[in-house]
Amino acid sequence: MGGEFYNEGLRFECTRCSRCCRHEPGYVFLSYNDLPRLLDKFEMSRENFIQKYCRAVLINGVYRLSLKEKENYDCLFWEDGGCRIYEARPLQCRSFPFWASYLSESRQWQALGDSCPGVNRGPVHSREEIEQWLALREREPLMVLGEQDLKILEKEPV
Ligand code: SF4
Ligand code: SF4
Repeated sequence: MGGEFYNEGLRFECTRCSRCCRHEPGYVFLSYNDLPRLLDKFEMSRENFIQKYCRAVLINGVYRLSLKEKENYDCLFWEDGGCRIYEARPLQCRSFPFWASYLSESRQWQALGDSCPGVNRGPVHSREEIEQWLALREREPLMVLGEQDLKILEKEPV
């Protein structure tokens, strides 16, 4: 890549305000590697985990797998002031805020600061680190659900 606005890196430090995990509707999509990690953590079968914790979301003609939310729009795994699955949290959460959508131009990054107080504070994250996150997101695509998975989601959780 050439002259990106983040050539000199970007400052970010999570304040643990939990705003990105709570209060507003949103999606936490699972990649193909996220699901096995979570199955290991919960020692659950794929079917049971999907039924209990996931929902299908239709985007651009394909179904993706997202974590469920509570009625108040908190992520299902937000508990007692933090993430219950922190070590195994999905790549979407781990790579935040170094997402392509926020890094396409400086004003997108600055606008993110309105909702995330961690933006532009704390240590500098180098361009190399930022690009590693972008590359990881490219390498680890989001799951696309097939008919079998959609059937699982039609069943009630056990
Ligand atoms: S909104 Fe930003 S500062 Fe708050 S928990 Fe999320 S990443 Fe951390
Ligand atoms: S999985 Fe954890 S980090 Fe990700 S949105 Fe849910 S509570 Fe937040």
